[in-house]
Amino acid sequence: MDRQQSLSALRQTGEVWDIAIIGGGASGLGVAVDAASRGYRVCLLEQSDFAKGTSSRSTKIIHGGVRYLKQGNISLVRKALDERATLLRNAPHVVSKMRFVLPSYRWWESTYYGAGLRLYDFLARGDDFPTCRKLSRDEVVSALPTIDAHRLRGGVQYWDGQFDDARLAINLATTATEQGAAVANYVQVTGLCKTNRGTVCGIKWRDVETDRSSELLAKVVVNATGPFADSVLQLDKTRPPVISPSQGIHLVFDRSVLPSQQALMVPKTDDGRVLFAIPWHDVVVAGTTDTLVETVGLEPIPQVAEVDFILKTLNRYLDIDVSSQHVRSVFAGIRPLVRRSGNRKTASLSRDHSLWEDSTSQLVTIAGGKWTTYRQMAEETVNLAAQVAKLPPRPCGTKELAIHGKTEDTTISGSLAHYGSDAAIIEQWMQEPGRDRQIHADLKLSHAQISFACRHEMARTIDDILARRSRSLLINARAAIEAAPDVASIMAGELDRDESWISQQIATFSTIAEGYVCHFRQK
Ligand SMILES: Cc1cc2nc3c(=O)[nH]c(=O)nc-3n(C[C@H](O)[C@H](O)[C@H](O)COP(=O)(O)OP(=O)(O)OC[C@H]3O[C@@H](n4cnc5c(N)ncnc54)[C@H](O)[C@@H]3O)c2cc1C
Repeated sequence: MDRQQSLSALRQTGEVWDIAIIGGGASGLGVAVDAASRGYRVCLLEQSDFAKGTSSRSTKIIHGGVRYLKQGNISLVRKALDERATLLRNAPHVVSKMRFVLPSYRWWESTYYGAGLRLYDFLARGDDFPTCRKLSRDEVVSALPTIDAHRLRGGVQYWDGQFDDARLAINLATTATEQGAAVANYVQVTGLCKTNRGTVCGIKWRDVETDRSSELLAKVVVNATGPFADSVLQLDKTRPPVISPSQGIHLVFDRSVLPSQQALMVPKTDDGRVLFAIPWHDVVVAGTTDTLVETVGLEPIPQVAEVDFILKTLNRYLDIDVSSQHVRSVFAGIRPLVRRSGNRKTASLSRDHSLWEDSTSQLVTIAGGKWTTYRQMAEETVNLAAQVAKLPPRPCGTKELAIHGKTEDTTISGSLAHYGSDAAIIEQWMQEPGRDRQIHADLKLSHAQISFACRHEMARTIDDILARRSRSLLINARAAIEAAPDVASIMAGELDRDESWISQQIATFSTIAEGYVCHFRQK
């Protein structure tokens, strides 16, 4: 991916794009891959970095949504399970199978949850995931060594997928580029261009790095800005908000909290939700919460009550005393839930997506859904966009399209495994003197990975490198802050930046990263 090349394409006068996409999260990137692979002329503009919004802040599960079964939403689960299988096939380097264990403390729980999970397996029939089974008390203890064994009766084990969300996003951006799309980060959409009849015919945009503004023309514009959808809808016309923003946070611990390759699933928390504690990279990610918030920003702020809630729930299930001192990092994301009525209670809103076309401006908006279903959402969005723009209909091919990085090589392991086919280039660069140097003793990030991110993955800031090209900030916030100066100087060499850029980058990143350090003390 080459940002300059994309910007030059966006600035070409006289060019009319078939589809212009606003937003570079799972939704927008999925649309870009789908539309470009159908042969349409596509551009995508992201105001910050790819996946800077919700798409880098998920629980990292590729799932049908066991809990939606309880709501009777069988078709949503069925579709998501189908997408789970598709993703595992098309991006096996970023998605893997994971075992989840539900511990049972009451006599009926294993039978009750086991029945639901057998239905889950039935809906997933024919795919590559093993089926669920009941576990004895000893099997649960051996699967989850820190589980509270007092009054434990047994449990149930089932399978879902696990992934690295930001890496999948970067791979989708690369795939879109390979299919011919022009994608650019740090390009903000500031307005919509309209015809005399009020139809959207293009967008006004600003290069955030240079503050230079431009316009481009497009036959149809897709608003894929997730929780920010209202701000783009406001550029179209004044209307009541449609997004009900709901925040979810995660706490990250070292593996001693759950020394296992298997995940813990708490089927019913005090507020009636589920909670996961999942091994991910070298850490355990625990979450999440569901808190109605008023504002949507790029760095949502975890609340004390949310941190307390996760710690309390974990302490109820674990045999060790987990406190805020054990937290290596805390991160928050905003669910782009689409309001169906005036109801403000987010638990009652559907996790399914909404897709619509404005009857006057013809702006197409896609919002809601899950990472797991991004491909199917994209297929529906491109079908609608092509119809709106009167493009020649072309079939969707993404069910069979390999995502960048897919490789048959099963020997790649360790911290480069998620790079898939790109790992070979990084390994080769690591042979050069100094390039295999880890930038921090507590982070698995080398000089070569930083260079690769700058040259091939459009990394522009320290935050891009430490939060999304690698997951250092989520894995260990303090270590990421300590590593920032080294990252900045490597990036400055790659991007031809001076000392003042380095100082400004370190200051900006330190402010962001402080928000990931857990400053809370338990009540
Ligand atoms: C706490 C939490 C946990 C979750 N866990 C899971 C999970 O385990 N599995 C799963 O399948 N799903 C999960 N989800 C859901 C999933 O993460 C989201 O559905 C998905 O990431 C939404 O992607 P998006 O592209 O719609 O939004 P975003 O990722 O937020 O992308 C929108 C993008 O638009 C950009 N943008 C906004 N305004 C402009 C503008 N004017 N110009 C240019 N760009 C703009 C933003 O910068 C942003 O990058 C979770 C969600 C949350 C909140």
